[in-house]
Amino acid sequence: MPRKTFPCQSRKADFFTPNSSFEDMRTDVAKENELVEGVRQMISFMGDNPDRPGVEKTPRRYVDALKDITIGYQMSLADIVNGALFPIEHLGERNMIIVRDIQIYSLCEHHLLPFHGVCHIAYIPTDKVLGLSKLARIAEMFARRFQIQERLTYQIAHAMEEACGPLGVGVVIHAEHMCMSMRGVQKPGSITTTSALLGCFRSDPRTRQEFLTLTGNPQK
Ligand SMILES: [Zn+2]
Repeated sequence: MPRKTFPCQSRKADFFTPNSSFEDMRTDVAKENELVEGVRQMISFMGDNPDRPGVEKTPRRYVDALKDITIGYQMSLADIVNGALFPIEHLGERNMIIVRDIQIYSLCEHHLLPFHGVCHIAYIPTDKVLGLSKLARIAEMFARRFQIQERLTYQIAHAMEEACGPLGVGVVIHAEHMCMSMRGVQKPGSITTTSALLGCFRSDPRTRQEFLTLTGNPQK
């Protein structure tokens, strides 16, 4: 039997995963087909013909795209960190480490419409540093879920704390929400800024100020 990807689940889960029985598998295929049918009905409800050539395969493509956009549910912090922690040798290395302009794409959980923008993550290590690429992957893990920007910011900060036990963490996100730009108040270009400060980023005014100065304004 060829290896197949478990329809609604991670790339890792498949026929041979101990936790997934054949019965679960069948149920998931059925659920996914229901979802595809639901999208088809949505197209019809909005006034288009779901059987015309251009949109005939759209429901399946939409469900596949949505699974990819929400792949963060299948990721874990342990898998991401995966041992990429490196000891620091001198106290002088306890300076602020900042990764700026991490692009994030997410879906607002209130409208299931995209919001996108940039995330800046900074921390001051205690005795070990985290591989730099891991910061972007942590942001991605939480962004690729149904989110509100406030929680996304907070979750990234707490994951950083859990991953490397730093003296402090700061996260800032500047994002544009399609639910504000395309509908409702229709204010394209308005940017929402959220921040989460933990440890010395909260308690030490100089650290906080340095971080906010470095990350305060979205880059044009
Ligand atoms: Zn929204």
